[in-house]
Amino acid sequence: MKRIYNFSSGPAILPVPVLEEASRGVLEIGRSGMSILEVSHRGPDYEAIHQGARSRLLALLGLSADEYTVLFLGGGATLQFAMVPMNFLGAGRTADYLHTGEWSGRAIAEARRYGTAHVAGSSESEKFACLPASWKLTSGAAYVHVTTNNTIEGTQWKTVPPSGGAPIVLDASSDLLGVERDHSRFDLIYAGAQKNLGPAGVTVVVARKRFLESANTDLPAILSYRSHAAADALLNTPPVFPVYVLGLTLRWLEEEGGVAEMARRNSRKAEAVYAALDEFPSVYDPTVKEPAHRSLMNLTFRLKSPEREGDFLAGAHALGMDGLKGHRSVGGFRASMYNAFPEEGAEALADYLRRFARR
Ligand SMILES: *Cc1c(COP(=O)(O)O)cnc(C)c1O
Repeated sequence: MKRIYNFSSGPAILPVPVLEEASRGVLEIGRSGMSILEVSHRGPDYEAIHQGARSRLLALLGLSADEYTVLFLGGGATLQFAMVPMNFLGAGRTADYLHTGEWSGRAIAEARRYGTAHVAGSSESEKFACLPASWKLTSGAAYVHVTTNNTIEGTQWKTVPPSGGAPIVLDASSDLLGVERDHSRFDLIYAGAQKNLGPAGVTVVVARKRFLESANTDLPAILSYRSHAAADALLNTPPVFPVYVLGLTLRWLEEEGGVAEMARRNSRKAEAVYAALDEFPSVYDPTVKEPAHRSLMNLTFRLKSPEREGDFLAGAHALGMDGLKGHRSVGGFRASMYNAFPEEGAEALADYLRRFARR
């Protein structure tokens, strides 16, 4: 199998050993005589996969199972934009949102259906090319919502700002397990798996049990975190195959050295590419200028001569690099380099950037 350098923003690259094992699981899981696609979600084979993935995720995040619970939901991170306010807002309640890009904008729009979503800080006037310089929190807010990594715009909160005591909710769809954080500061973390964690089809929710106790109860069970948690994340049929592949990816991550090692690799990869971009300011225009705000996961840049974009992409293609086209709202290019993206790929891109600039 010839692998390309897959810079896609999501669904995205997965580790080859995970793909190999998953392909065996499609034929038979354990000694069950059944494919992972055929087993009952209430049977012993899936039970072990399900509970194993939940506890492994908590261990990788440095969280205790006494304090936190893990859910595997459908609907993508987009459903979480609505589920969070459904569960924690209501008439007369306010949540603070840091508005840092397209995804936080969608989260704010959904929250406004259920209560007051106060934009506590925003970088919209800078076209989201940086993080907000300041923010003003509401006292007594139901929660503060932060998008840790702005997948489209290429900014990232290396340190999530303090919330003044309010619960913190994170959309960590594109950097969960890619950078080190003290996760015990957070009350609810959600992430669509298809960026940095696994395949499309499952959304991971990690929630503090005590925070869930404060959630609204007058909700359909399928939209209530409390009912999912009470059912051990098996309220209904979960996305069995995506959870299986997620579990394999978590095991791979653990074997590779865990989050600390991933964070070191991701920093090296990002540094290699940003260094090449910054070396040629007359050719490249990185969209995020402030180094502290630059994402380690999604690196966005444009060419000073947009008419060379086609050439740039064609040259990258010829070298086995795919997925570099930027999001339509930002234009230019975006190199997404998640945990499974190899360091050689980052070096290959840095090399190509230098050669293209000297042409
Ligand atoms: C991709 C993405 C989303 C949307 O995820 P879906 O799973 O497609 O709903 C939300 N937030 C962030 C930060 C993302 O990167």
